[in-house]
Amino acid sequence: MSINIKNVSKVYPNSVTALKSINLSINTGEFVFITGASGSGKSTLLKLIMKEEEATSGKIRVFGSDLVGMKKKKIPFYRRTMGIVFQDFRIIESMTVFQNIELVMRVVGASSRAIRKRVPYVLSLFSMEDKADRYPRELSGGEKQRVGIARALVNNPNLIIADEPTGNIDPSMSYEIMDLLAQINKRGTTVLVVTHDMSVARKFDFRTIEINKGKIIKDTSPPKSDIKISNISSSSFLSSIRN
Ligand code: ADP
Repeated sequence: MSINIKNVSKVYPNSVTALKSINLSINTGEFVFITGASGSGKSTLLKLIMKEEEATSGKIRVFGSDLVGMKKKKIPFYRRTMGIVFQDFRIIESMTVFQNIELVMRVVGASSRAIRKRVPYVLSLFSMEDKADRYPRELSGGEKQRVGIARALVNNPNLIIADEPTGNIDPSMSYEIMDLLAQINKRGTTVLVVTHDMSVARKFDFRTIEINKGKIIKDTSPPKSDIKISNISSSSFLSSIRN
């Protein structure tokens, strides 16, 4: 299980309840869309998983790490296990495409040799190898987001989290950006995408969770391990639900 959320609620200091007793399990290797109206609690859910916000109550486990009570000095290391794709790209304007990606490898202490090998490789995955020396202002929105996704991927994260990745790009490019995330998922990375862009999401046959007023109101395919199997001990049953 890559993410396990149990009875999680979030009440902000201004007394707004953003999430109400959420239960959610996501298996390793899943691709999950999270949808819902503005203000429903989607970003709060991501922030809890990224440990940018603390849950008011409940338990959160992400790839074996308990987020409740995690020591402050551990948080930066925890965040490095995930790649984050932002709606507004967050690429540094004064750095080239190559340097933007290089920077996140430097942060984790990668060698210059590893950087020289890995950066062109991830750029080539997104057909951006010939844009390595360009500055962000010379790129289209779709290209900037390809850089954002390459940067999220470069340190081989367990989990990619994307908050409205198509929110600032030309609608004609939205499918392509979502498809890149789907391709990454095919290689085994768990991917979590918040989007209100259901016209694009519907083109992919992925699990979709809908949040409304802080509660999960729809989940198209909860993991099979959530099935109550307490009365059935037959191993053939166990293997059949895993197939
Ligand atoms: P969504 O991502 O679905 O638009 P959010 O998770 O951002 O929803 O917000 C859920 C609710 O929590 C909203 O009512 C919002 O106003 C409130 N909220 C979000 N962030 C904060 C914050 N830092 N402080 C107080 N209230 C917040």
